Amino acid sequence: MGRPAVFKPFWPVGLVKYARAALFLGASVGLAQATDYSGPLFDAHLHYNEEAWNGQAGPHPLSDVLARMQRNGVQAIVANSRPNDGTRALAEAGEATRAAGVTVVPFIRLYRNRADYNNWFQDESIYAMVQAEFARGTAAGSYRGIGEFHLYDSANANGPVARKLMQFAEQNGLAVLAHVDDTAVDLLLAHAPKARLIWAHTGIGGSPVARVEALLAKYPQLMGELSYRPGLTCGDGALCPEWRALLLKYPARFLIGSDTWVNQRWLYYDDLMRGYRRWLGDLPPAVARRVAWDNGAALFLGAAP
Ligand SMILES: [Zn+2]
Repeated sequence: MGRPAVFKPFWPVGLVKYARAALFLGASVGLAQATDYSGPLFDAHLHYNEEAWNGQAGPHPLSDVLARMQRNGVQAIVANSRPNDGTRALAEAGEATRAAGVTVVPFIRLYRNRADYNNWFQDESIYAMVQAEFARGTAAGSYRGIGEFHLYDSANANGPVARKLMQFAEQNGLAVLAHVDDTAVDLLLAHAPKARLIWAHTGIGGSPVARVEALLAKYPQLMGELSYRPGLTCGDGALCPEWRALLLKYPARFLIGSDTWVNQRWLYYDDLMRGYRRWLGDLPPAVARRVAWDNGAALFLGAAP
C-alpha cells in the first residue's frame, strides 16, 4: 500500500486526524508485513508450584524463573502457586525481582495439594484458608486476587464455598482467575455480579467465539486470559481471523499468560513468550500492547502505563 500524504502541513487538523486513522486501519490489514511485538509482557497466569522449586531449590529456583521472565521481557506477573508458598517466595524476593525488572502481583491459590482441585468448592477449610491468607498479605503487598481455581463440572459453581469465595472477592476488590466453562461464567457472576472475573484460557474447551463475544458484552468486568485457547492461532502461529476480529473489538478485555502448571511449561517458557510475540505482531501495535501489557497494568499496577 502506498503511503498516504498524511502530514502535508496545509491540511486542516480534523483532516489530518482522519488521515491518521485511515493510516492506522491500513496498517492493521497489512498482515503480510507483520513483525513480532517487541514491547513489555504481563504474564497474567503464572504458577510457581511446589515441584518447580521444592521449597528451596528444585529444578527451577527463583534465579532460574526470574531469568526466564527477564530475558523474555516479562515485566509483571500474576503469581498463583500450589501451595501459596511459591507465591510468597516470589513476593519476598524483592531485591531479586526488582533486579529482574519483574513486579509480582500475588493471588491466593485455593490449593494446598492436588486433592484440593476436585473438592475446593465445598470445602469450608479452603474458605478459612483464603481468609487467613488474605489477612496475612505478602511482602509484595496485599493479595490482589483469588485463583486459579478449576471447575470440571460447571454445576459446582453453585457449591457453597464457590459462592462465598465469589462474594468475598467482590467485597474485597479481588480479581478471580477461573478455569471454567462458559456456563460457569454465568453461574459464578450470578453470585457476585460486580466481581472482576478473569476467565483462564477464555474457555479451554473451545467455547465458540460468538459465545465468548456475548459474555464479554454481557459482563463488562469479564476479562479473557489466552493461554491454551483452542483456535486462537492458525498455521504458522498467526492469529486466526475470528480471534483477531474479537481482539480488535474488545482490546481492553484480554490478557496473556504462561500457565506454568507443570515444570515442562518452565522449560518452554521462552517458546511460549515467543509465540505470543508472534501473533501479537498481527495486531495494530497499540492493540498488541494493550493485550500484552496495558490491560494487566491497568488492573494491577495502579495506573495507566
Ligand atoms: Zn493455570
